[in-house]
Amino acid sequence: MVSRVIPVDLFDLVIFGGTGDLARRKILPGLFRRFCAGQMPDQARVIGAARSEMDSDGYREMVREAIGEFGGGHTFEPAQLEAFLGQLEYVAIDALGEQGWKELQALMAGTERVEAYYFSVAPSLFGEIAERLQKWGMADDQARIVVEKPFGRDLETARALNKTLATYFNEDQIYRIDHYLGKETVQNLMAVRFGNMLFEPLWNSQYVDHIQITVAETVGVGGRGEYYDKSGAMRDMVQNHLMQLLCLIAMEPPARFSPDAVRDEKLKVIRALEPVLPYHVVRGQYQAEPCNEAKNPGFRTAVGNPRSRTESFIALRTEISNWRWAGTPFYLRTGKRMQARSSEITVVFKDTPHSIFAEDAGRHRNVLSIRLQPNEGITLGVTIKEPGPGGMRLIDVPLDMSYAEAINPDDVEHVDAYERLIMDVIRGNQTLFMRGDEVEAAWAWTDPIIKGWEARNDVPKPYDHGSTGPTDSTELLRREGREWRQVTQ
Ligand code: NAD
Repeated sequence: MVSRVIPVDLFDLVIFGGTGDLARRKILPGLFRRFCAGQMPDQARVIGAARSEMDSDGYREMVREAIGEFGGGHTFEPAQLEAFLGQLEYVAIDALGEQGWKELQALMAGTERVEAYYFSVAPSLFGEIAERLQKWGMADDQARIVVEKPFGRDLETARALNKTLATYFNEDQIYRIDHYLGKETVQNLMAVRFGNMLFEPLWNSQYVDHIQITVAETVGVGGRGEYYDKSGAMRDMVQNHLMQLLCLIAMEPPARFSPDAVRDEKLKVIRALEPVLPYHVVRGQYQAEPCNEAKNPGFRTAVGNPRSRTESFIALRTEISNWRWAGTPFYLRTGKRMQARSSEITVVFKDTPHSIFAEDAGRHRNVLSIRLQPNEGITLGVTIKEPGPGGMRLIDVPLDMSYAEAINPDDVEHVDAYERLIMDVIRGNQTLFMRGDEVEAAWAWTDPIIKGWEARNDVPKPYDHGSTGPTDSTELLRREGREWRQVTQ
């Protein structure tokens, strides 16, 4: 494999919540992959900081198990794992009290290196940890903090959190993570848009009929029922992940690929979003799997609230009021317990202005699909003549730009979104992180929609387990003469 690993500066990464689900499933296995790729300097340290009482050896054992369980088939030499574990430390700490802070301070004192603090804990602890980092002298100019989602639950709480963090850190020290931005295809989307002459001239309301963004999951709420019932799909998925994708697909070309140039353009998109009309939103709640209710219960059972009015599915239509996009619908859809796990952005181009072919040749539209998961890749549907005799019949064939076809897989190093983003933190590159004003603008757009439901006591529509959501979602497009792209694995 051709190594394209760019070395990073010496660093210490403290993971608050280093024993939690996210740390064990994503952060630590990701760091280990970066270690194996030669990207973690010998003297770099990863310091788990969490409530559980254990020493560094106990932590190393926990991480060994986590890598075994969540390593995702990554092959490595046993000696590599031992060497990585040797770079781990652990401090039992109480984010709400005094325990452990002195030990952490001693560990971090006097080191000339990048210091990153990952807040992989409940959001209620973000402010507490920031405050204590300052109190214990760790919030110096070198420090960077990584803040997990959810970033607030509405505009007011997001503003308050931004204000708290700004008391202790400058904006260029704050990395608000949205792991969707760390996906390979999301960055490829920018390469395709801004690295080619081909697409950009067509990237506007004159040539694009509409754009769809779908993030479909087959899983239910799982063990996150209590959190999810207070959140719902709008807060959990639309306000962050789907809106970030919308920004990248719709933004103007930034002057350069630099953090603020990109984030300025994204912010302009959010600020230009039209308010969503009530009949342009469909909310849904999944039902139990028939004959398998015990294993796959319905949403209300899963969250333990028989009267829950929280949505596990949302589909909505919006527009962007600017010169490029005026009049072009953007349809966003996300849900749990759907037919297939699939995240895709689809740009559907307009019909040709005039067809020279007979009616029965069929009319086709160019469709550009940007697939985030599974099978990341980009496909452009082009219309050609169906080969063979029998006259002129048109068919769509994909011009496939998927990595599997175009690039020798042995040459591609798989990098998970979290590991890429963590390395960006160490490099000090904020391009793929949300700025405070972006997050607030996103809440300013979603808040009135959520408040509207609350005011109307809106009840989500039931939808079948393993379906594409409530039928009203199909209607949302059908009444405008359009269709959702199929949700396929
Ligand atoms: P978790 O409940 O599994 O882990 C919480 C961690 O916080 C544990 O290590 C625990 O020891 C620590 N902790 C709790 N109280 C503490 C205290 N007072 N002082 C010090 N440490 C304390 O949570 P998680 O699922 O790992 O989620 C962590 C964060 O990541 C949350 O903000 C969550 O919203 C976000 N997130 C998680 C996922 C995921 O897949 N798990 C996905 C996206 C975002």
